[in-house]
Amino acid sequence: MELLVATGNAHKLEELKPLFPGHRLLLPAEVGYAGFDVLEDGTSFFENAYKKARALFRLTGRPSLADDSGLAVRALGGAPGIYSARYGSEEGGRKLEAGERNALLLANTATFADRTCAFVCCLVLVLSEERFFTVQETLEGELLREPRGKGGFGYDPVVYLPAIGKSVAELSSAEKNALSHRGKAAMRMAALLSTL
Ligand code: IMP
Repeated sequence: MELLVATGNAHKLEELKPLFPGHRLLLPAEVGYAGFDVLEDGTSFFENAYKKARALFRLTGRPSLADDSGLAVRALGGAPGIYSARYGSEEGGRKLEAGERNALLLANTATFADRTCAFVCCLVLVLSEERFFTVQETLEGELLREPRGKGGFGYDPVVYLPAIGKSVAELSSAEKNALSHRGKAAMRMAALLSTL
């Protein structure tokens, strides 16, 4: 099936592609909707993902997939959570680079003993106005004291996976996809698609 992906984040699309074998994932820009953008004003990962997927479906009339994801730090009450992409940025001001956001997060949690955190990914696939599927998955980890590794994107260098002994940024893309929040959510969504 051809799936339009409601994202402007090329990293996400590249991570998602191998997780949907047998399907063709396309960006809105590739089918003539280069300006596609949605205000992410929901109060949960699900609300934001559903809003993005539904908006793209309404625009194109084609099966539309959206991901909303972020990092939830337990000692911060789940923050930055749905605000992960904008963490530390002033309303209307410059958006911090990933490295700056990571440094800020580590500074803001420097005194915390509880370093548990979870990456969260909600995927929504809208097939029609009345028909959609959703799945939300996690990758549990611990905040490091300083960044480690060069792979992945976003908060990957500051999240350590004790069971593996590596930060998420030290995993290969295949390793990350096998156990990440996005990888697990996508595998479940792909399994669901295979039953349609
Ligand atoms: P979204 O585009 O609103 O879903 O923003 C998600 C933000 O959460 C990204 O910009 C990253 O900062 C962070 N994030 C989501 N998934 C990951 C991941 O797999 N690794 C690292 N950071 C992630």
